[in-house]
Amino acid sequence: DVIVHLDKITKRFGSTVAVDKLDMEIMAGEFVTFLGPSGCGKSTTLRMLGGFETPNEGRIILGGTDVTSQPPNRRDVNMVFQDYALFPHMTVGKNVAFGLELKGKTRSEIDKRTDELLEFLQLGGFRDRTPDQLSGGQRQRVALARALAPDPKLLLLDEPLGALDAKLRGQVQVELKDIQRRTGKTFFFVTHDQDEALTMSDRIVVMNAGRVEQDGTPEELYFRP
Ligand code: ADP
Ligand code: ADP
Repeated sequence: DVIVHLDKITKRFGSTVAVDKLDMEIMAGEFVTFLGPSGCGKSTTLRMLGGFETPNEGRIILGGTDVTSQPPNRRDVNMVFQDYALFPHMTVGKNVAFGLELKGKTRSEIDKRTDELLEFLQLGGFRDRTPDQLSGGQRQRVALARALAPDPKLLLLDEPLGALDAKLRGQVQVELKDIQRRTGKTFFFVTHDQDEALTMSDRIVVMNAGRVEQDGTPEELYFRP
């Protein structure tokens, strides 16, 4: 099933064309990575999907609905950032529960879902800790748990491993791919790191100057002569 259709979207900033008539479909359950050098339009694409930027032209269809002009909070999409953006004064449990509270879930629904996710992400023993009592990899998992909690259609990840040291990054790459596979969620991942893209993705979209340069599986791209 097609979950996202980017229907010829263009985004300009003054005379800069950040994204140029991008036309593609993303399938439900796909781990798709946008790869390319700084300034090629990856973040702008992600921000348009999240509703933080509006395209000048084209439409964004999410789950069959035209969301092009919908604000972020009306879209069934969540984001994970490089700096985690966890609330430092809240416990792990409260961080994960936060998005569910905004959605007006009942206390027992919130507790159930929070426990479920913390177990799933092997954070069961950390519920009452604050983020400063966790390692970088654990914080990243809390951020992921929080983003997954409301069960969004699409998860947007903007260089989420950038803050991790090289050793931990390899481990978290494997974990992240595993979490994506087990949840069956659609992940839209942005990175300039080719190894990261090759390790995790079902599909890699190589961007250059606002356009798609290559689009295929890691095998198709990697073994191309
Ligand atoms: P990437 O994420 O691949 O590094 P971006 O999407 O951030 O690329 O940027 C694409 C192009 O758009 C760059 O030339 C960048 O300078 C420009 N750009 C992005 N955001 C803005 C903005 N808010 N105002 C002006 N130019 C921007
Ligand atoms: P990245 O390179 O990690 O994609 P950037 O540092 O390019 O991110 O962008 C960070 C923020 O700055 C974004 O909100 C983006 O819209 C904005 N931005 C990027 N390029 C420009 C620019 N040339 N002028 C103004 N704002 C920009």
